Amino acid sequence: MPLLVMKFGGTSVADLDRIRNAAAKVKAEVDRGYDVIVIVSAMSGKTNELVGWVNETSPLYDAREYDAVVSSGENVTAGLMALTLQEMDVPARSWQGWQVPIQTTSAHSAARFVDIPRANLDMKFAEGFKVAVIAGFQGVSPEGRITTLGRGGSDTTAVAFAAAFGAERCDIYTDVDGIYTTDPRITSKARKLEKISFEEMLELASLGAKVLQTRSVELAMRYKVRLRVLSSFDETDEQSGTLVCDEDEIMESKVVSGVAYSREEAKLTLVTVEDRPGIAAAIFGPLADSGVNVDMIVQNISEKAQGSDKPVTDMTFSCPVDQVARARKALEAARDAGHINYDTLEVDEDAAKVSVVGIGMRSHAGVAARMFRALAADGVNIKVIATSEIKISVLIDRKYMELAVQALHDAFELDKAG
Ligand code: ADP
Ligand code: ASP
Ligand code: MG
Repeated sequence: MPLLVMKFGGTSVADLDRIRNAAAKVKAEVDRGYDVIVIVSAMSGKTNELVGWVNETSPLYDAREYDAVVSSGENVTAGLMALTLQEMDVPARSWQGWQVPIQTTSAHSAARFVDIPRANLDMKFAEGFKVAVIAGFQGVSPEGRITTLGRGGSDTTAVAFAAAFGAERCDIYTDVDGIYTTDPRITSKARKLEKISFEEMLELASLGAKVLQTRSVELAMRYKVRLRVLSSFDETDEQSGTLVCDEDEIMESKVVSGVAYSREEAKLTLVTVEDRPGIAAAIFGPLADSGVNVDMIVQNISEKAQGSDKPVTDMTFSCPVDQVARARKALEAARDAGHINYDTLEVDEDAAKVSVVGIGMRSHAGVAARMFRALAADGVNIKVIATSEIKISVLIDRKYMELAVQALHDAFELDKAG
């Protein structure tokens, strides 16, 4: 029997009516002759509420218990979706991660898939069940504890199941009707793309475009999953939405194909650290060990410390705002242990990152200059810059984020097909 994976995000299962709407889409595919694996998120807002409760209880929480709490939202929707389908006379059964069992690493709150054994689900399909509803975002560690896959992780659950079961397609149903040149909530000029390459989507996702979790794009690229993003609120057919596919299937040839942003960034500066071999390792090692995702890094020009001939420098880096407390603790511990020394730690919690992405950058010069000119024209000051082969990112004041996204979208004429 041909098989489809259909994933419904939080807003698509936000209440019982929306679950019924999503279930009707599943039933339509069953009626067309498919077995379906449905991946569900928690009802919208639920995971944020659970995360909030964890933070309020224990700011530097034990990640095992974080996972125990935040994985629960998906369990509710999985059961409700199975019940809704049963009410529509579709034979359906729900599965929590451990029941499949979805085996992951034990990296709590950021676990990765190890294996998805097919036997249990195959047996149910063979018994005549048409739909398996899987609680997204979760798995089970080798120690038998519940794990979660990082925010937005249900996308990755969907792609992993599509790969494991050889699904014909992996359809990600969400609250927008496809992938756009930038978040359509930031500018109405954002243009829906018919197709986007795995590479570009990977960059956009990792730079903040939360329409797909980064890891889901990585897995789809590796296992050649036909991955599509489409709306759960519209009538949809096989042509709807945006297909994420190989570069050679794409006709567009723009230098920049999208703008991404990440709103909640912090900039930290260690003032007056010794400028000596090993200092970066001594700073960033403990940060990594504490689970801080350091993103951009700048080491300032070295100078001599006052009254000494030892060279000193300032080290600046960025990380997500909600990891500042962790970063501070790790750096203070490293200082107390005598591994590093610094005068002060300056923290700017009002930063945001804006990035332009495009595979065309590989062969075109001048993208950075055009980007910086566009930002300058709107009076946006750049704090940190980072580049790679197909992206340029800048850290700016959060209050200018929307303006910067709009300015860059205009500067690279992304509203026009090309
Ligand atoms: P879900 O709950 O269905 O997983 P998400 O909120 O995680 O949905 O992702 C969908 C949202 O991603 C959209 O509502 C949109 O605001 C945002 N988004 C950011 N960048 C883009 C983009 N380039 N194209 C489409 N949506 C985007
Ligand atoms: N519910 C989880 C989250 O909000 C996972 C997901 O929806 O993909 O991050
Ligand atoms: Mg999501």
